[in-house]
Amino acid sequence: MTSTPAIYETPRQAPPGGRAEVRELWLARVDKIKLTYVHRQGVAMEFHPDRVIFEQDALEYPLGRQLWELFKNSDAEVMVSRSRRITGIPGRNPQESYREAKRTLVFGVRRTLNFQTCRPSAHYQLPLTTSCPGKCEYCYLLGSLPGKPYIRAYVNIEEILDRARDYIVKRQPEVTTFEGSATSDPVPVEKYTGALARTILFFAAQDYGRFRLATKFTGIDSLLDLKHSGHTTIRFSLNTARVIKTYEHGTPALEQRLQAARKVFDAGYPTGFIIAPVIAYRDWEREYAELLETIRACFPGTSSLSFEFITHRFTVRARNKIKSIFPHTGLPMDDEDRKFKFGQFGYGKYVYAPPLMDRLKEALVTKAREMFPGARIDYFV
Ligand code: SF4
Repeated sequence: MTSTPAIYETPRQAPPGGRAEVRELWLARVDKIKLTYVHRQGVAMEFHPDRVIFEQDALEYPLGRQLWELFKNSDAEVMVSRSRRITGIPGRNPQESYREAKRTLVFGVRRTLNFQTCRPSAHYQLPLTTSCPGKCEYCYLLGSLPGKPYIRAYVNIEEILDRARDYIVKRQPEVTTFEGSATSDPVPVEKYTGALARTILFFAAQDYGRFRLATKFTGIDSLLDLKHSGHTTIRFSLNTARVIKTYEHGTPALEQRLQAARKVFDAGYPTGFIIAPVIAYRDWEREYAELLETIRACFPGTSSLSFEFITHRFTVRARNKIKSIFPHTGLPMDDEDRKFKFGQFGYGKYVYAPPLMDRLKEALVTKAREMFPGARIDYFV
């Protein structure tokens, strides 16, 4: 941390430093991180926020100031918030508010450095970002993030990693695993913060620490040449083409995720797939088997992949929120074929009832074992 710069409410009040100069900085950074352009149905998947809000404290950190320089003369509306309570995101109804929030990027300081537990994927969450620009109707964050789901990225990455080191030392000689995607998809903002790259390098040097991240996005080229020492696992979240088409918006196509997965695999990262949410629609058995076959076609003869399966679940709060944001959603959320269950944070959720859950598990896990002998099935929940 260095001394506090002056706080400016809008870029127009920012200190002199011509537009050309800022543009150069911007282009230098863009060039450095080798941005990848990914399209789904002609729509660019790269994240360009319409609105960027800096929490005042974020400008006390080198990364915060660097980002300010990046954005102050960009096309985005840029503001500084004097409070950690973010206001000023427009929206006359839940749908509009949701859309506007998903176009808003907030740079802040992570204050709470007590990490939450993160079963079954890791010991602890590693909070680098929250929310994501994707708009999946089933998103688990709809029920857990308070307020508007704007994207927040933390600029005090070194403090977060220092805290991770404390957790690692405390559990030594046990290995401690951290999940970087518990409250977000961290890849879309990586081109701005470089947080994943820094975290991967940090964990490469940890004998007793491991990092895991999961994504649907494909902007991973800047991670490929890093020294990772095999201590970071990158998983791609996949689903059947039907689920992607019906319930996901603003996410890359299946084939593009698989291409990105192939790249990280070829770069030597432990690589895996999260099949989630598994939805028991009419043709689920055939289409999830097809999905596994598609993965196998991209990874012929590979035995070192890992798989995680998460069946569709929802809380009452999430269901209400989903229906307000996506009033015409066809997401199956009736109670009839569901069982109410208490989760690790004490709130109840609806999961598939045991007979159906058993069938899903039997079909998918058996198929995965058959198609990928030697692959690790981490869990099915
Ligand atoms: S990509 Fe993941 S985090 Fe983003 S909206 Fe979809 S489910 Fe939620």
